[in-house]
Amino acid sequence: MSPDVSELQERAAHNESRYRALNERMEPHNVVHVWVDPPMPDWICECASTECMKPVRLTIVEYEAVRAESTHFFVVPSDDHLSPAVEHVVQRNERYWVVEKIGEAAEVSEELDPRSDS
Ligand SMILES: [Zn+2]
Repeated sequence: MSPDVSELQERAAHNESRYRALNERMEPHNVVHVWVDPPMPDWICECASTECMKPVRLTIVEYEAVRAESTHFFVVPSDDHLSPAVEHVVQRNERYWVVEKIGEAAEVSEELDPRSDS
């Protein structure tokens, strides 16, 4: 009945990595065009849902801190944006949660990391 867990994990990681790639392309634009101090641009929620395009606000520094880890993604601070089968929350604040991929999802996230050297 329930889909294979590793398949689920892989699919979730692919979806989330897609939004990560989108956010990576937005970053230069966000760095230049946001003038509040500190700049707090909108990013796209990186949860596993293919439909979710909810904005999440992080400063560039916060964004970079998440991006520094291949297995870390940020999502809207709500259980609706969490996939407990493939990730757990490592940081919570009122604007966003940082999740860490586990199991197969973590491996896929590392493989798809646009900043990975390999
Ligand atoms: Zn979401």
